[in-house]
Amino acid sequence: MDTHPKASHFINGHYVEDTNGTPIPVIYPATGAQIATVHAATPQIIEQAITAARAAQVEWAAMTGTERGRILRRAADIMRSRNHELSVLETYDTGKPLQETLVADATSGADALEYFGGLAATLTGEHIPLGEDWVYTVREPLGVCVGIGAWNYPTQIACWKGAPALACGNAMIFKPSETTPLCALKVAEILHEAGLPAGLYNVVQGMGEVGSALVSDPRVDKVSLTGSVTTGKKVYTAAAAGMKHVTMELGGKSPLVIFDDADLDNAVSGAINGNFYSTGQVCSNGTRVFVQKGIKEAFLARLAERVQGAILGDPLDEATNFGPMVSERQMEIVKSYIARGTAEGARLVCGGGQLDKDGFWLEPTVFADVTDNMTIAREEIFGPVMAVLDFDDEAEVIARANDTEFGLSAGVFTRDISRAHRVIGKLRAGSCFINSYNDAPVEAPFGGVKASGVGRENSKEAIQHYSQVKSVYVRMGDVEAAF
Ligand code: NDP
Repeated sequence: MDTHPKASHFINGHYVEDTNGTPIPVIYPATGAQIATVHAATPQIIEQAITAARAAQVEWAAMTGTERGRILRRAADIMRSRNHELSVLETYDTGKPLQETLVADATSGADALEYFGGLAATLTGEHIPLGEDWVYTVREPLGVCVGIGAWNYPTQIACWKGAPALACGNAMIFKPSETTPLCALKVAEILHEAGLPAGLYNVVQGMGEVGSALVSDPRVDKVSLTGSVTTGKKVYTAAAAGMKHVTMELGGKSPLVIFDDADLDNAVSGAINGNFYSTGQVCSNGTRVFVQKGIKEAFLARLAERVQGAILGDPLDEATNFGPMVSERQMEIVKSYIARGTAEGARLVCGGGQLDKDGFWLEPTVFADVTDNMTIAREEIFGPVMAVLDFDDEAEVIARANDTEFGLSAGVFTRDISRAHRVIGKLRAGSCFINSYNDAPVEAPFGGVKASGVGRENSKEAIQHYSQVKSVYVRMGDVEAAF
């Protein structure tokens, strides 16, 4: 596959280049080879994107929801028909195995386009009777939205932000992570092939400074970030200065609680999905696995056996089910956490090593006997490192699970249905799972509480975050006044 994009940016319906921008090498994580170069957006490129978005948004908002939705649903169909090619590109961009990208990236993006395309025509207001008079409400777009993406799901994030924004009548300027700049350009191309008018979905490349310039521009009305808590705080602060709407999808250190009556193999599957999918580079991962003492050793034994099934090979070979880290930098971060785990006294059950080959390969790693204060139990690692902690009873595990600044996700495995709902009800997290982990259908709201973020993506909830309500009081009779 030719991984070189036609140009670095996509603005006003076209690929645009400006080689004055800082070159950004695109690295294939499986080999470390450079597969493309893009250039960071210069101030001129940012200006072009904002001007195009503002100009196009007014007419787009004036179209009917049915018309807007039809374009999004057509884009979903194109995306599905090109799934294989898009999945291969996602694999080159991120290193994630094709076995995953074929089912989790362009397909999830297409789901978002289809879902919000379907909702677009249903976005109406209310009629509120007040005797003779009444109030009606109108759901209006916000204007120009900026989306800023992380590197783990470049296609999905570009669609999860773009689809609801466009459905509500906004324009979008999307800045992918500098680590994975390729896939969002394809999303822009497909939306335009589906008939999206020029200027409504623009992609500009660059590092944090480009994101920062977009967020602080007074012509931007909303910012949706997927990224770390540290970046989230900076972006939220900059957005607040301009009183802009925000969605913050940030990091996590989520608890996965496994009671001793759980189906052991299902619980092990949940822990594997919640720690090793996408080589552990998933924000909602259940990286603090609390296992009730009675089944701890049986759980660890079965887990160690199942981890032997990880196939670390060529990501483009569909048999491979575990890929490299996205970058050398991220690999080094994760290696330093593995070293901390060992130094702080956690028991290494399996993994822990780097593969002796090109690219950024780490083994799936499990630590047991982890205690609440160890660094690997407190900080988000964003890599394939599972921390297994043990517990005695329900009240204790709830208190310990909630003892974190984060609140993105939480999961419970138990056969006791009352306990499942009782425990989930007490866990402070936005996206929760019972006897499952990390499912993210477009129909379900996704997002966190506490430091993990503000707002929700996907589902009808996302509409609240890409639109606002105008209320209109209508008087039928005379107007009384004091004088
Ligand atoms: P970062 O926070 O480092 O970056 C996120 C994005 O923000 C990147 O595009 C980055 O640009 C950009 N950025 C950095 N600084 C600024 C700034 N001052 N103003 C505007 N934009 C800026 O996150 P990573 O890319 O390293 O992704 C990993 C993090 O993302 C993890 O913490 C993870 O938990 C979180 N995440 C959350 C998800 C969720 O839905 N809750 C989903 C996926 C990931 P660049 O990197 O190009 O410099």
